[in-house]
Amino acid sequence: MRQIAIYGKGGIGKSTTTQNLTAALSTMGNKILLVGCDPKADSTRMLLGGLNQKTVLDTLRSEGDEGVDLEIVLQPGFGNIKCVESGGPEPGVGCAGRGIITSIGLLENLGAYTEDLDYVFYDVLGDVVCGGFAMPIREGKAKEIYIVASGELMAIYAANNICKGLAKFAKGGARLGGIICNSRKVDGERELLEAFAKKLGSQLIHFVPRDNIVQRAEINRKTVIDFDPESNQAKEYLTLAENVQKNTKLVVPTPLPMEELEAMMVEFGIVEL
Ligand code: ADP
Ligand code: MG
Repeated sequence: MRQIAIYGKGGIGKSTTTQNLTAALSTMGNKILLVGCDPKADSTRMLLGGLNQKTVLDTLRSEGDEGVDLEIVLQPGFGNIKCVESGGPEPGVGCAGRGIITSIGLLENLGAYTEDLDYVFYDVLGDVVCGGFAMPIREGKAKEIYIVASGELMAIYAANNICKGLAKFAKGGARLGGIICNSRKVDGERELLEAFAKKLGSQLIHFVPRDNIVQRAEINRKTVIDFDPESNQAKEYLTLAENVQKNTKLVVPTPLPMEELEAMMVEFGIVEL
């Protein structure tokens, strides 16, 4: 069972990429559990056809400790992917990171991590600023991390910070598997991300183009894999899935000093000084 966490700046495309990636992996015959670790609880929407799934924390709140069972919080979606949403506290109240710790612990106790699973995926919120969001890495739950980024400075900045967290918690066994570029159509983007990944000691696992079919599929509450399997974008997600499937290059990343990051942006013509 490979346990994989997907990180990246908010809005970069983690949930979109993760759902398309897991959908693609399921068509290749894999059994998958996907755990959404974002209080927005939108990590599984396109796999479940928009069904508003009851989150682990909501269920805990309404049913109490004894009332939570897998049938409530775990829904089969596209390709029989088992979908779970951790959920979060009410906005402005409590700690969202704590919810992830509670959820994963509960899933373990309820026996959600069955031996037949090929993959467990965690779709985790943005920056590793809080222990809760670092939890899948810190406690060695996910041994393999992919970071979604683009050629935009803040996306790379966040990716670099996540690598700092990863390097710090390397004792737990978590390693970087690669950077996924989710394109924002920035000039020189592929070259920049390749260079960035290399400086981290890692690799660009795939360059996913920006395509409006993602929005069309999304409004239909589907992944692109489900909505239009013959489309070019579906093929891109399948290639991403193949690259992840065959990847064995797992490293402790070497994050860059801020000056070097900025110098790299200038070097690749992303920004002029
Ligand atoms: P995150 O989970 O990182 O916060 P989302 O996956 O929710 O980000 O993505 C934000 C929005 O970006 C989505 O609503 C989706 O429509 C759009 N998006 C993501 N990836 C692509 C892509 N490759 N092409 C076009 N639109 C995309
Ligand atoms: Mg998301």
